[in-house]
Amino acid sequence: MLSSILDKIKWDKFGWKLQLTILIIIFCFILHLFRLDKPTTKEYFKNRNTLKDNQESSNLHNNNNVNKDNKNQQSQKPNLPFTIQYLTPEDSYALFKDNQYLDKMNPSNLKARGFESKATCVKNYTNSFQTITDENKQNVNDLVSLMLKKLQYSPVKYLLTEILSKSKIAKCASWLEGNMPHTHQNIIVMPPFWFDSLTDEDKLTNAGSTLIHELVHVEQRFKPQKYQDLYKKWNYHKADYIDNMEEILALHRHNPDEDNYQWIWENNGSYYWTGAVFKDRYPTNLHNINYLSYPVVLLDKSSANSPNLFKLKSLSTPTHLHNFTQYRNYFGVGANHYNPNEIVAQYMENAYQSDISSGVNIDDIGDSNPGYIAFKKEFNLD
Ligand SMILES: [Zn+2]
Repeated sequence: MLSSILDKIKWDKFGWKLQLTILIIIFCFILHLFRLDKPTTKEYFKNRNTLKDNQESSNLHNNNNVNKDNKNQQSQKPNLPFTIQYLTPEDSYALFKDNQYLDKMNPSNLKARGFESKATCVKNYTNSFQTITDENKQNVNDLVSLMLKKLQYSPVKYLLTEILSKSKIAKCASWLEGNMPHTHQNIIVMPPFWFDSLTDEDKLTNAGSTLIHELVHVEQRFKPQKYQDLYKKWNYHKADYIDNMEEILALHRHNPDEDNYQWIWENNGSYYWTGAVFKDRYPTNLHNINYLSYPVVLLDKSSANSPNLFKLKSLSTPTHLHNFTQYRNYFGVGANHYNPNEIVAQYMENAYQSDISSGVNIDDIGDSNPGYIAFKKEFNLD
């Protein structure tokens, strides 16, 4: 067909330029037909289908992610009237790089935490937070949701709606603070075992109770006056100075939930310092302590209405708090009872447990203890 077309052209009439142009066009046409890199039709459709499959797969994957994200978002807030905030591993740097609590750490407290120097302590603390997984968050949400339901008519509920809603939860390495839950500012630092216990059958009693305890410590910073009013009713005084007390205070275990290590309990005109004291000058761990009381005397008798200057009695011997009958009868707390910040947190755990009807009573706390009665009255928990 091509040769007949060429024969029909009157070559002489158009000259050599036209012939050259036509030959170039024909050459280009042939070249296009036999291009080496052009995929065959079969290959083209195969490639296009593969591309389509990939795109669909990708879309499906994205949709799955979106669905997963939606599911996560939905599951993050099942019926919660607020969003729980969480900290990341990076946040431990911001919290501890220039931290007053660490700045005040003395040699015994560093040793009990396994550190030889403050610099090593700070370095480790700034890397002490762990990642809180989506599953962890889901479990926290489930617990809080359950607690809100159980506390529907309980006055203890405000700790979740008013305090947890303004707090942040962090997950720490198990070595931090001897694996004990604790707080800094409005940050609740929970060890891994707490997150693991969120799926336990008795999570409402155990994990829930611990959360309530830590929320009390956060509220102590939000509303200090509320707590000071209660401590006054308990006859607990904050001393500005206790003479002759340096050695004992150097062995006092530091606790981020305390803002004061000089608490004095007054009973029938006598005064007692109470605290958690290391058994050794170089303790091997944070649990290596005794809960003790030391008798002290008021330095300025005219300040009896607002006592704040004391002196450790010479040759004073300590009494273990569990053997201090008057103290035991007044407060009824059997452990972690060495300062008012901890006693009130233990009391709130007790109030929580009786309101969720777990049938569990913390220690021996009950309505026969004047301290507990004053607490319930002051906090309107009756
Ligand atoms: Zn505590």
